[in-house]
Amino acid sequence: MNEVERYPVCYAGYSDSDERMLSSSGGIFSVAAKHVIKTGGVVCGAAIDEKGNVFHKCVENIDELSDLYGSKYAQSNVGRSYAEVKKYLKEGRKVLFCGTPCQANALAGIVGENRENLIIMDFVCHGVPDPEVLRKYIEEQAQGKAVKSICFRDKEKGWQDYQFRISYQDGSEYKCDFRENEYMHGFIHDLYLRPSCCNCRFKGIKRKSDITMGDFWGIQEEEPDFYDKKGVSVILIQNEHADNFLSEIRSDLFLKNIDVNKVIKHNPSLVKTSVEDVMSKVFYRDYPRKGVKWAVNAIWHPTKLYAVRNKLYRGLKKVLCR
Ligand SMILES: Cc1cc2nc3c(=O)[nH]c(=O)nc-3n(C[C@H](O)[C@H](O)[C@H](O)COP(=O)(O)OP(=O)(O)OC[C@H]3O[C@@H](n4cnc5c(N)ncnc54)[C@H](O)[C@@H]3O)c2cc1C
Ligand code: SF4
Repeated sequence: MNEVERYPVCYAGYSDSDERMLSSSGGIFSVAAKHVIKTGGVVCGAAIDEKGNVFHKCVENIDELSDLYGSKYAQSNVGRSYAEVKKYLKEGRKVLFCGTPCQANALAGIVGENRENLIIMDFVCHGVPDPEVLRKYIEEQAQGKAVKSICFRDKEKGWQDYQFRISYQDGSEYKCDFRENEYMHGFIHDLYLRPSCCNCRFKGIKRKSDITMGDFWGIQEEEPDFYDKKGVSVILIQNEHADNFLSEIRSDLFLKNIDVNKVIKHNPSLVKTSVEDVMSKVFYRDYPRKGVKWAVNAIWHPTKLYAVRNKLYRGLKKVLCR
């Protein structure tokens, strides 16, 4: 079997380290990142500041890695990251880059064949929300309090029952089950994804990245013996280069070979593009004046008046789209 036919190879996997609790699913990124730093390399991934700005940064020591753990649900500003990665590679350093599939594709195009020292990770990508909506939401939720940190996937109640958390400088916290949180509702229901995400060209099982990660949703049905409350990832090894890298970190992971179709069944975002909700335009009209929470709730938990508005708008859209 040649390389094209042999890959991707699909695994369920997790790390039993403390970092998994700071990671979104099985903590695979944290294991890969620590290994790269320990062997003298650099890691480039997404961080978030207290205003809700998401941005890529390069990290050279283990202490700073925690800034990169966990999913940040807004478009990340890559800034000069691609140029920095290129510079590190030129210096002969090992680099691990982790980003959305479109960012992974862009970096692969920029570095060309020079990938011996580079590992590109991407993930199953539902889409990235508009960063302006996140900034506005954080401002609204904080109500003037100074924010210390923002976590989209607090696992205190478990990986599948994750909570959206804002920690404040005064020691207080806002915590909310993701199913009850307005921002997460708008994200999951495609109210404010970037327009390019509804026309994505980077889905699929085969990628230009080396390693693709995701949450192993549906694991209790598909691989119940491998379920773990702290989180299990799906890992797609895309080529021999990634396979060699995996053998370097394998001893820090629990892995099980699985059929990729078991992943697609519960996680269509691997192959399927998100569709903008018809109410998205209504949200964008309302939120600058009324706020993110109000605009989401007027669609999600409407009063009688707004329920009528929503029904009329959806009906009108259906007729116009025929
Ligand atoms: C916007 C977004 C949508 C996602 N959609 C899905 C989905 O539909 N299905 C699914 O199974 N998994 C999805 N994931 C991936 C999933 O949430 C986990 O990131 C993945 O399972 C890896 O988990 P981990 O525990 O190994 O690492 P983690 O520690 O959770 O991974 C952290 C790394 O992910 C990257 N990252 C985080 N946020 C961003 C961002 N905004 N932009 C670019 N890179 C970022 C960073 O480089 C970061 O260092 C999504 C992630 C993001 C950020
Ligand atoms: S859905 Fe596609 S376009 Fe949007 S961030 Fe993910 S990979 Fe990029």
